[in-house]
Amino acid sequence: MIAPYSPSQTPTKTPNDLDAFWLPFTPNRHFKNHPRLLASASGMYYLDQSGRKILDGIAGLWCVNGGHSPKTIIEAVARQVQELDFAPCFQFAHPKAFELATRIAGLAPDGLEHVFFVNSGSEAVETALKIARAYFAGKGEGTRYRLIGRERSYHGVNFGGISVGGIGNNRKAFGPLIPGTDDHLPLPYNHTRDAFTEGEYKFDDSYAEELERIVGLHGASTIAAVIVEPVTGSGGVFPTRRGYLQLLREICDKYGILLIFDEVISGFGRLGHGFAAERYGVVPDMICFAKAVTNGTIPLGGVVLTEKIYQSFLQEADHAIDIFHGHTYTGHPMAMAAGLATLDYYRNENLFERAEKMEPVLSAAVHALERAPHVHDIRNVGMAAAIELRPEKEAPGKRGYEAMIRCFEEEDLVVRLSGDTLVLSPALIAGEDEIGRMAEAIHMVLGRLPENN
Ligand code: PLP
Repeated sequence: MIAPYSPSQTPTKTPNDLDAFWLPFTPNRHFKNHPRLLASASGMYYLDQSGRKILDGIAGLWCVNGGHSPKTIIEAVARQVQELDFAPCFQFAHPKAFELATRIAGLAPDGLEHVFFVNSGSEAVETALKIARAYFAGKGEGTRYRLIGRERSYHGVNFGGISVGGIGNNRKAFGPLIPGTDDHLPLPYNHTRDAFTEGEYKFDDSYAEELERIVGLHGASTIAAVIVEPVTGSGGVFPTRRGYLQLLREICDKYGILLIFDEVISGFGRLGHGFAAERYGVVPDMICFAKAVTNGTIPLGGVVLTEKIYQSFLQEADHAIDIFHGHTYTGHPMAMAAGLATLDYYRNENLFERAEKMEPVLSAAVHALERAPHVHDIRNVGMAAAIELRPEKEAPGKRGYEAMIRCFEEEDLVVRLSGDTLVLSPALIAGEDEIGRMAEAIHMVLGRLPENN
């Protein structure tokens, strides 16, 4: 006889069993044998469960731009949850959503006036790609469905994002991808020419002119949008330059193609400005944002877009919906409160200006590692830097992984890994001492890595 189903009230596992949680982008078996658990955080540091102090070299995950746990942001979130825990933004709304949208549009270049809120960078990208296709469909140009990305770009993990994204490992197990996303611009980087350049390197226009080739191949009337990170972030920090982005803008304008900047990393001070669009003097048609908009406290993302795109969606009939798209948690009150307090905090602490001032400090610190063992290239822009290691033969990613683990276990430093590349993206409050310590810790670890091959 089969026993009737009865949910057990007695957990079969201990509360701190590591088995159930499947960590993303992580080798779970190894992690669970060698866990790295962070228990609390303040400013530039985490504490683990034993009270060990660990320097955060990557601002959480490129999101805690103001350092961990600023009091004003935490208090704003706490107040908000008491006042209004939730309100829908489908057909109804609440005041802080309008306030934050206005503030974010105010940070974006003139002409980008409206904000669609989502909950993550991945959703911001999907939203922008869907808006691009729907914009042309609404104009009677439904043949414009192609979406052009760039090699080595990261645009999150949803189907649209991995399709336009240019990181092979994020794509290859999940096909077939979205139709019309096969074409990618080349990464404007050539190791022989550009390795060890401090900051932006010189490259010719051919990287942007590739867009002309793609237009020639398919016809402009099939292309809806080009999406690029102004600076490649998760793919290993590859700087870009003003002329390149300007040329992309010109070619898009020539053929009526929308230009989308994915500023999930480059927004909110990482490059010393509200958005990288301002640093590079190029106005895209849409900007995707997420991460640092709430200083990492509450998930939030969104798309800032032009008046022209927004107006094209508005309907004549009072009851007609503009766009069949949105999330239960679009404009969540806690995220809105966190965003408003975060923008106040960044402004009051002059953090964007501070990032601009600290850029040369980070640059000097990482380029001092040029002669360290295993180093293949060093790149930096804004408050982001990459130390690329030579991969071990037959085992790409192994040397970088070991370096990351050793940084944590032996040097009390959290770094990010992209293949064999170690990435630093400190909070914008980082001082010279802390930046120096990050570089020193990496130097020590590189000296201890086995030679292997
Ligand atoms: N776009 C860029 C440029 C990113 O760097 C990221 C995340 O690192 C994303 C999109 C995806 O954001 P999320 O992880 O919040 O979905």
